[in-house]
Amino acid sequence: MGNELVQLTVVNQPGLAGAPHSVSGAEGADLCFSAPHPVNESVLPSVIPAQAGIHPPSTTVPWARRLRTFYIETFGCQMNVHDSEKVQGVLLARGMTPVENHAQADLVLYNTCSIREKAAQKVFSRLGAFRKGSSGAGKVIGVLGCVAQQEGERFFARAPQVNLVCGSASYPKLPQLLDQLEAGKRHVTGLSLDTDECFETELTPRDNPFRAYLTIIEGCDQRCAFCVVPMTRGRQRSRASEKILAEARRLVEDGYTEIQLLGQIVNAWQDPSPARLSFAELLSRVAEVPGIRRVRFTTSHPRFFSADVVQAIDAHSTLCDQIHLPVQSGSTAVLARMLRGYTREEYLEKIRCIRKARRAISLSTDIIVGFCGETRQDFEQTLSLMKEVEYDQVFSFKFSPRPNTLAEANGDAPEEDEKGRRLAELQELQRQIQLRRNQALLGETIEVLVEAYQGRLGQAVGRSTTNRVINFPGSPEDVGRYLAVKVTAAGPNSLVGVRE
Ligand code: SAM
Repeated sequence: MGNELVQLTVVNQPGLAGAPHSVSGAEGADLCFSAPHPVNESVLPSVIPAQAGIHPPSTTVPWARRLRTFYIETFGCQMNVHDSEKVQGVLLARGMTPVENHAQADLVLYNTCSIREKAAQKVFSRLGAFRKGSSGAGKVIGVLGCVAQQEGERFFARAPQVNLVCGSASYPKLPQLLDQLEAGKRHVTGLSLDTDECFETELTPRDNPFRAYLTIIEGCDQRCAFCVVPMTRGRQRSRASEKILAEARRLVEDGYTEIQLLGQIVNAWQDPSPARLSFAELLSRVAEVPGIRRVRFTTSHPRFFSADVVQAIDAHSTLCDQIHLPVQSGSTAVLARMLRGYTREEYLEKIRCIRKARRAISLSTDIIVGFCGETRQDFEQTLSLMKEVEYDQVFSFKFSPRPNTLAEANGDAPEEDEKGRRLAELQELQRQIQLRRNQALLGETIEVLVEAYQGRLGQAVGRSTTNRVINFPGSPEDVGRYLAVKVTAAGPNSLVGVRE
């Protein structure tokens, strides 16, 4: 949702070995994470050069050795969060152990996001902690994800403490890259975008014990003028339906009841297997997996959105009453400059189709304000579209010019101050819409999946099928259960209730 629900997630699971239920993999709960990795000792020098008084060549590190512990910090969207889970799977399969902070780790990985300038800067501030002579000495430091792909080899000049630079299209090669680092290579890269492979892992520990992310499509073939994703994640590649369904079944066996299908453009998925399922058929098949309670999918692109998805939701109560459909702007002129491939009217036509569903489907969107050439009138078109659609959630951003995108050819963007004013105005409008829509739920009883318990407040935190958060008096035992909760109060961002 908005790919911004998770602004910053620390993926770091010291308790993982004791929580087999949060793990899925070929062997599910029986996997033993502390099993020693069968290291190919032949790649390790028998005498460490520095100890032997030999100057290592500049391409090797003096501390070539087995990497035993790791720490990963993740920035950005759900796809990054799930990529980090799969990277963890690769490291665990090598016999490595997760630790609680970078100070304890042999290998420190930053999985980065470059969607906006601010997100891209975060990794450089983290790397500051590893300047020469500081806590980074002896560690292997890797940068993964979109900033890695964008900066490429330049990373080593800008941040010499970095040893590994690897974009998401090269994650299947991570084991070989790690072998090279263990053998003492100073700088290794995985930067090729030329792949039709998806990143498949034998075991994938999940951060969230209830909702499992499941990637169905990687990369992006669109050329939205504002977006770096096609340049950082490579060409679109879909996973075969039978692999997706097998993973969904394994997840249910491992105790998950909610699955979120992921893709930069999830509804552009095309089945490469002979079954040739459509995206809507895939949704239906996942929704029919015995034991599944909720299925979500994100992010859909309006261009690929078709009525059969609404029919699938109508037919399967396990498909959540929620669709995230990023509009980006309410002005057809701006949409054309963004190269989004639809007009305001075409987008609204899809919304009308969703509103005709048998169940009331909750709608959320992403909006960029201050794109190149956006006039006050264009911006007002966005406000009027928001009033017409009445979204339940809007993820809104100031346009951030990104390297190698087509945006620059589209004229000047409004000044930063003006972007800020427009963003505040848009967010205030949305706050009022959300408050009104949430208040309309007063007195209704809603089924929630309880995701957390806040002991200090005695409150359980649940989530509805429409993705609304509801707080209600509960107990730690409620966590993981589906409960009926009556709404007693409503704010713009969450609801308050009591158990029925
Ligand atoms: N692939 C999805 C799509 O095209 O709808 C969304 C991907 S992106 C990770 C999530 C959101 O970030 C986008 O929908 C857009 O609103 C926002 N975004 C992307 N590039 C941006 C930029 N250069 N400046 C500001 N926001 C941006």
